[in-house]
Amino acid sequence: MRSDVDAAITRLAGWLRETQRGVAFTGAGISTESGIPDFRSPGGVWSRHQPVLFQDFLADADARRRYWQIRRESVPGFLAAEPNAGHLALAKLEEQGRLIAVVTQNIDELHQRAGSRRVLEVHGTAMKVKCLSCDKRWSAEEIHARLEAGEDAPTCDACGGLLKSMTVSFGQELPADVWQEAMQLSRQCDLFLALGSSLVVYPAAQLPETAKRSGARLVIINRDPTPMDEVADLVINASIGETMDKVMDVI
Ligand code: ZN
Repeated sequence: MRSDVDAAITRLAGWLRETQRGVAFTGAGISTESGIPDFRSPGGVWSRHQPVLFQDFLADADARRRYWQIRRESVPGFLAAEPNAGHLALAKLEEQGRLIAVVTQNIDELHQRAGSRRVLEVHGTAMKVKCLSCDKRWSAEEIHARLEAGEDAPTCDACGGLLKSMTVSFGQELPADVWQEAMQLSRQCDLFLALGSSLVVYPAAQLPETAKRSGARLVIINRDPTPMDEVADLVINASIGETMDKVMDVI
């Protein structure tokens, strides 16, 4: 088993050495290694709360209070988390000219904090808040302080509009420009590295499928099997941080 993983690491390092247009795609699994719980897992935020649909958020003050209560519980974990070896490896690979972008389902900005420059956030970011009416923006930290001070559904101090985290909520469309760019990168890359994504949630699975169909090598690193394993060129079921650390040692 160990030697299988070692052989896989050597192969991946070889492919990364050759590429100048790799794309990484990351899901919750890379952030759980920084201590951020997967929303969907037991103990994650959706095991304790019903998600607030975007339409309800707009229409209903109670739904907005529920929404901000969930934020109030989840934001401190994001603020306390630090990028791990997996995030740092991707930033380094971009700096070395091997990766052209990171496409992420995560909303914690750990890639940017690790030093990645081109990060496409297909589900937005929880680290910024904006006014839905005038587009004024705040850090999640500033709004968190207002929640802690007793506000239960903060509004805009400039125009009175509704504030919302810059995440894509259930019932809200993915940002079209970001999604188009992610699809285009998937078509153009020669190596698609999927890290910590179950590749189940639509439309996430479309990206590795597109990359593979366009001739890229597909590499999956995930704790658990995924539905894309069968078509992947390489699958490593291990810790992302530990694996990428070893890859960076031999690249
Ligand atoms: Zn406003």
